[in-house]
Amino acid sequence: MDKFDQTFQGLLRMSPSEFSSQIVSLKGMCPCPGCPTYTDCSRKAKEILFCAIGGSFNCITQDLGCICPTCPVARNLGLTHDRFCLRGGEMTQRYKENLR
Ligand code: SF4
Ligand code: SF4
Repeated sequence: MDKFDQTFQGLLRMSPSEFSSQIVSLKGMCPCPGCPTYTDCSRKAKEILFCAIGGSFNCITQDLGCICPTCPVARNLGLTHDRFCLRGGEMTQRYKENLR
């Protein structure tokens, strides 16, 4: 079990209110709006924290680089993927890898 698996297990043990607070806190730490790939469409739709919530709903279609690897959230949660807006959240990308 790697760091992300342990983090995920911890999130599952939280109460709904603790979980919501954690998501709000992580959203506040997400630097996606400063990434070259982030778009005005995403800004207007308030899309953020793609690693946990999942990919963009049609607001991001072009890969202009990804700053996820430098993000403190990625380090804290033990994320091992990137480009979550385009490829889906960490769980989704791990699931797809296991299908190969
Ligand atoms: S890892 Fe990427 S999507 Fe997740 S909080 Fe950091 S910048 Fe945002
Ligand atoms: S997930 Fe990565 S590529 Fe997408 S906007 Fe956030 S930092 Fe940029």
